[in-house]
Amino acid sequence: FSRLKDGLSKSTSRLTEGITGIFTKKKLDDEALEELEELLIRADLGPVTAARLTAGLAKTRFGKEVSAEEVKDYLATELQKIVEPVAQPLVIDPSKKPHIILLVGVNGTGKTTTIGKLARQFRDEGKTVWLAAGDTFRAAAVAQLKVWGERTGCPVVSRDTGADAAGLAYDAVEQATKAGADVLLIDTAGRLQNKAGLMEELRKIVRVIKKLNPEAPHTTLLTLDATTGQNAHSQIEVFKDMVAINGLVLTKLDGSARGGVLVALAEKFKLPVHAIGVGEGVYDLRPFEARGFTRALVG
Ligand code: GDP
Repeated sequence: FSRLKDGLSKSTSRLTEGITGIFTKKKLDDEALEELEELLIRADLGPVTAARLTAGLAKTRFGKEVSAEEVKDYLATELQKIVEPVAQPLVIDPSKKPHIILLVGVNGTGKTTTIGKLARQFRDEGKTVWLAAGDTFRAAAVAQLKVWGERTGCPVVSRDTGADAAGLAYDAVEQATKAGADVLLIDTAGRLQNKAGLMEELRKIVRVIKKLNPEAPHTTLLTLDATTGQNAHSQIEVFKDMVAINGLVLTKLDGSARGGVLVALAEKFKLPVHAIGVGEGVYDLRPFEARGFTRALVG
């Protein structure tokens, strides 16, 4: 949590200083409300949320003197209400054998690292975990996943660079099922510059997985890099057209001044946020916790 708090300090100071600047012994007037709304938009909360929060404040306090503390408390409470429904830990279904998790997302958003972190977490819980190096396009991605496999003691199913990713996913599901694994984490490619090709590849992966296990993938996680702010919105739109996303992981919240984007995503897409990345280390993945997050955000 302190890591998150430190990490979010950039987002926090932006909001806190802004609020303190606006509400120093000042009556809540139109000008203050406008400034607040602008500040919330700049904090990546999104125009809709910013307008709604500002209107909500005006409803009870317009014309009265309000302190920065009051405004922060109000915001923290309201933001918590927005993110609470999406703060859902990733639950592994022990009856699945394996519970199949597909990770998708643009290259560089943290798919492979998140797989390593999840593998560590599940291994520490005593689960058997298999990994599939489904980004067959990039040799570095395959090599990186193998390193995570060694570090966490998980078998890695891989093929040579350029091999068919769906074929690899098929092998991985077959082998992990035969081995009675608890969890299978499948990495995928994320080259958005070839959207049509990527869509075809991801859909094919899902199709072949379903051949072996019609209920799978049980979880399809989209990784989003928090430092890219509003880009996260379009990435969700793009990927949910390709595959059925049912959870998000927000990475790099440690280095970001844009933690507020999570609130906007929660309000707009209502997708569960299963975890947040707060560093490059193997233990730097946290369940997303609504109260801690919003308190850290508002300061
Ligand atoms: P992929 O291309 O989507 O598989 O992304 P990678 O897992 O290779 O991650 C890209 C870079 O982001 C790597 O240098 C990671 O160490 C880094 N990274 C991933 N998650 C986090 C995070 O939560 N915080 C920070 N600071 N860096 C991260």
